[in-house]
Amino acid sequence: MNHRSRLLLAAILASGTLLGASALEASPAKNVILMVSDGASWGTWDMTSFYEYGAKGMQPYDSFPVKLGMTTYPLNFSTTPTNDPTPQISYDPAKAWDKTPTGDANLFAGYAFIKQNYTDSAAAGTALAAGIKTYNNAINYDNFGNPVPFITQHAKDMGKATGAISSVPFSHATPAAFGAQNASRNNYHAIAAQMINDGTLDVIMGGGNPLYDSNGLPRATPNYQWLSPTDWAALNDGTAGMTLIQTKADFEALANGTLTPTGRVMGLPQVFDTLQANRTEAVQGADPANPSGVAFNANVPTLETMTKGALNVLGNNPNGLFLMVEGGAVDWMAHANNTGRIIEEQMDFNKSVTAVVQWVESVSNWDDTLVLVLTDHGNGMPMGPDSDTIAFEGIENNGAGQLPGVRWHYGTHTNENTLMFAKGAGAEELLTMIVGVDPGLVDVLAFNDGRYIDNTMIFDAMKMSMGVAAQPVPVPAAALLFLSGLGLPAVALIRRHRQAA
Ligand SMILES: [Zn+2]
Repeated sequence: MNHRSRLLLAAILASGTLLGASALEASPAKNVILMVSDGASWGTWDMTSFYEYGAKGMQPYDSFPVKLGMTTYPLNFSTTPTNDPTPQISYDPAKAWDKTPTGDANLFAGYAFIKQNYTDSAAAGTALAAGIKTYNNAINYDNFGNPVPFITQHAKDMGKATGAISSVPFSHATPAAFGAQNASRNNYHAIAAQMINDGTLDVIMGGGNPLYDSNGLPRATPNYQWLSPTDWAALNDGTAGMTLIQTKADFEALANGTLTPTGRVMGLPQVFDTLQANRTEAVQGADPANPSGVAFNANVPTLETMTKGALNVLGNNPNGLFLMVEGGAVDWMAHANNTGRIIEEQMDFNKSVTAVVQWVESVSNWDDTLVLVLTDHGNGMPMGPDSDTIAFEGIENNGAGQLPGVRWHYGTHTNENTLMFAKGAGAEELLTMIVGVDPGLVDVLAFNDGRYIDNTMIFDAMKMSMGVAAQPVPVPAAALLFLSGLGLPAVALIRRHRQAA
């Protein structure tokens, strides 16, 4: 933390708004809904708002009362357990926003910094779902190769209904982190089997249907990349104990309440991997009304429809619900640096947030429900068209319905400070978990007052808001020593560096 960050944090602490006890005394949240736009850099939120509204500040989450930065880095940059609890990676605002030209392809020192040591979706999902830092590839596994309990299990223990839904395959890293434990995210069949057969999740929806391709057309031969033939058969003959939903009409019937299955639900739309992002113009044809100019797969539901359907199924439980909604294909289109299609994906995510807010305000209420909207990490570094010469230039707004001006700087994830929005039961709890102040959030992004948390604290906030008892956990001395050197508050250290909850 640099000098200015320390001063800002001191000022905020002195203002006395940070550590109010009201959130701790509030009654537990009945419902927790976590919404993850996967791989959404700052520019991804902005470019979509510009396309949708011609302005920032119009999305439902823009008016949420708690807006904080959130760091996402993993424990280390290994892809397997290292058996070393010492954090190898951190985030430094002074380095992340450094505008010094590098004279090489990185352009600026800050760009070079955030390109390094990024998390993958597995370690990030584990941080959100289980509250620990771990190695990339881990699905609710710690750095010693041990499975750790995750938030969906806690919710299930409390008698809540649980769900995880995504616009990418249901067994992909982020939804997997809310329904499985595995040493590697790449073990799709084992992850899918656990999600389907363990009973931790009542509703699963996402890509992965073996009978269709990315354009929603039937395949001559099934493709079992995302689940095994055994589990696919068990879903079809009913022995998996889940109602299998596949057609767009059935998803829409779930969403409007005319289809009311009892028991667990598996929703596999008639498409292979992404709902829409991987479709091809050669098959679907053109549609100038879409940001990408390509017509949508006509037989596939939106994430918004899936969100409404999941809430209808889960909302019947008197003990409440836990639901994770992932705009997973936002990340896939960031990897592809595809401006039109990432806007389509983020628009569907935004509509899903609107659907959740409408559910809270019509079926539940903000005293009973916590809604968190965030990303698991940056991806692609989308910035303004002149951001090769003007460091951190913002996205160029060309008005509603017009593609914004975007320059992409990277083809994979980034270690930037990300944006987090929260509202409802226990949201203020996050204000007690501040790890620092990042001047760039204020000066460059005009996002908030610069305060930020770490992604592991999302787990803490969800668990505390649901009323799960907090448990003291020993902190490795090496971790304390390392972080004391960074000047981080002790309370944050303890939360951040426990190895298991
Ligand atoms: Zn991700």
